[in-house]
Amino acid sequence: MTLTAAPLRLSTTSASFEAEFNARLHWSADADAAIEKVVADVLADVQKRGDAAVLEYTRRFDGLEAATVRDLELTQADFKEAFDSLPQAQRDALQAAAARVRSYHEAQKKASGESWTYRDADGTLLGQKVTPLDRVGIYVPGGKAAYPSSLLMNAIPAHVAGVGEIIMVVPTPAKGSVATGGSGAGASSKGERNVLVLAAAYVAGVTRAFTIGGAQAVAALAYGTETIPAVDKITGPGNAYVAAAKRRVFGTVGIDMIAGPSEILVLADGSTPPDWVAMDLFSQAEHDELAQSILLCPDAAYIDAVHASIDKLLPQMPRADIIVASLNGRGALIQTRDMEEACAISNRIAPEHLEVSSQEPHRWEPLLKHAGAIFLGAFTSESLGDYCAGPNHVLPTSGTARFSSPLGVYDFQKRSSLIEVSAQGAKVLGPIAAELAYGEGLQAHARAAEMRLESVPPSATE
Ligand code: NAD
Repeated sequence: MTLTAAPLRLSTTSASFEAEFNARLHWSADADAAIEKVVADVLADVQKRGDAAVLEYTRRFDGLEAATVRDLELTQADFKEAFDSLPQAQRDALQAAAARVRSYHEAQKKASGESWTYRDADGTLLGQKVTPLDRVGIYVPGGKAAYPSSLLMNAIPAHVAGVGEIIMVVPTPAKGSVATGGSGAGASSKGERNVLVLAAAYVAGVTRAFTIGGAQAVAALAYGTETIPAVDKITGPGNAYVAAAKRRVFGTVGIDMIAGPSEILVLADGSTPPDWVAMDLFSQAEHDELAQSILLCPDAAYIDAVHASIDKLLPQMPRADIIVASLNGRGALIQTRDMEEACAISNRIAPEHLEVSSQEPHRWEPLLKHAGAIFLGAFTSESLGDYCAGPNHVLPTSGTARFSSPLGVYDFQKRSSLIEVSAQGAKVLGPIAAELAYGEGLQAHARAAEMRLESVPPSATE
């Protein structure tokens, strides 16, 4: 059977544009009741029975048999051994990517992640103290595929922020096991460990790791078990079970975000080779059937050329069936009146990845307000950002770029306000505070401020 890509073709001048555009954009993050039930049970059970429950669910869902959770722990020696076993080219690529991601996040920390103070005219010191989280948990997906790049993007900013302990969880299903809830008979504690993931843990500075996954891993990190320490925040992507578990433990721990399907929007002026744009649209479409790839361009002939490139290049793609399902189900090629209108529509979509494939990217960039990451110019393929450009590839999806930001050093830090009021400052602030406190009926608040005015110690009166 030949696969044919038929992404929806739209024009902003058409009367039906608004209705078709809105229907195509719609994505429901509604929880699946069956998954919610499983996850709620797993969380409660791990909270109650700790290690024993983790072992049971790891056996049931990943087919991995172990007598103790210690048997599922990976050591620094495992990370190092994995790294040493890689071919030189892979070691070099991992280290080069890690170095670039590290220097980007170091710059980010310098720009906005440091403590600051100032003194006002009365000598009162005010400021903000920035401290790293003590311990974080990083979820690295491992059910169907391995994601070493995801590990780098989560662990490196945590490391740069100065987090004390980085605990990684990564499911390593037993060979041939399927997470169907079966008995996992014949399983052993050595799952299908991914060497690149362990090597990435070595490069990124992970402290400890456990080969567990799904809701049971999220529960173990959130509540702690006899063996797995409770963390302060859990970051990292995962499937629907992981997402549901993260949503439920939020409040007990912090979480980064709940990621929806991946998205790319290419804003093109018609100057980039159409094959490049087609491949960029594929690069998100190949992630999964629900991923969204959209082209915005004022030039109808160029849109035809990109469509022809899609048809030409598709048969070469090993994941062509996923690409077609994604393009036909959620993709769109949209002709706009001009580039200004294309920018306005891009802002409405607020995409995760936004490529400005234009000869004048800096002309359009100031018009672009909402996007997880903006890739400027024809040579900046989004895939470079996924692996090694430096900025984080964990980005807000499903329009949440309107109010949220890429994962960063700031996600692994918190801020405390600093206030040191001088004697002079107390004289100024006391009456203001007392007045407002009496207004709220809070006597102790008011008196605490006034007492400082009534008897200022001699050393503070000059
Ligand atoms: P995963 O690690 O997220 O999930 C595997 C775990 O799911 C298993 O260990 C098991 O415990 C649990 N599970 C599976 N079936 C179950 C069932 N029937 N009942 C209870 N628990 C069950 O790995 P995955 O499944 O390969 O999914 C990875 C996801 O992460 C994909 O959706 C992928 O697109 C996403 N991802 C996103 C990014 C990003 O940056 N946004 C990066 C990498 C991966």
